[in-house]
Amino acid sequence: MIGLISDLHLTTENDRGMANFRQCLDTLQPQLSTLYILGDLFEFWVGDDAAVRLGYEPVIQRLQALTLAGVKLFFLPGNRDFLVAENFARQTGCQLLADGTVVRIYGTRVLLMHGDSLCTDDHEHQEFRKMVNQASWQGEFLARPQPERIQMAQKARLQSRQNLQHKSMDIMDVNQAAVDETMEDFSVRILVHGHTHRPAIHEWEVQGHTRRRIVLGAWYSETSVLLFSKEQLRLTPGPLIRTGLLPV
Ligand code: MN
Repeated sequence: MIGLISDLHLTTENDRGMANFRQCLDTLQPQLSTLYILGDLFEFWVGDDAAVRLGYEPVIQRLQALTLAGVKLFFLPGNRDFLVAENFARQTGCQLLADGTVVRIYGTRVLLMHGDSLCTDDHEHQEFRKMVNQASWQGEFLARPQPERIQMAQKARLQSRQNLQHKSMDIMDVNQAAVDETMEDFSVRILVHGHTHRPAIHEWEVQGHTRRRIVLGAWYSETSVLLFSKEQLRLTPGPLIRTGLLPV
């Protein structure tokens, strides 16, 4: 089976989240051939060198155990952990993916994204995204002492929580035109992403073809996993869908 997860938002401030993560991997590992993490595994990440200080060592060790057991692991950074880099990849044994990568899952081309780039109505976030994706911004940020970086990240977290209160649900969801344009660009009929914390399987028709957008859920109170086997795909918690219906 192939698993996809995102938006675990792991932090030592939430023991339950950490325990959910360990339990879920313990259950899934024997059945998994590949695991894709589509961003926001961590609540915040201020550079690979600060992982120990933030208490993320157990997460790294658990992922390392997964890859040592033969499971292929791919990590596509989100807007919270866009600074995950080569050291993390080396330690966990994962391969880093760029936001917007097409993979083949049992023969079907699937576009993987974190999802925030599709929320084009949220201009404030797009501005932030543009800024922090610049190599110069990242270089300057990573050159700061760890405590300062952590303080800046905490401020951004607070800001994000305040935004949740005054931004409308529509603004923080994906823009349908952006979704269609992106799927067109990558020539795919299936897109899997997270970020919006609105787990669902959306289906619509474009010129006689079915397009699907599968949204992974967040892990604040429960686990959310998308599982592909040869015969079916399943978004948990949620309905069972037959692969026979999947567009190729
Ligand atoms: Mn996100």
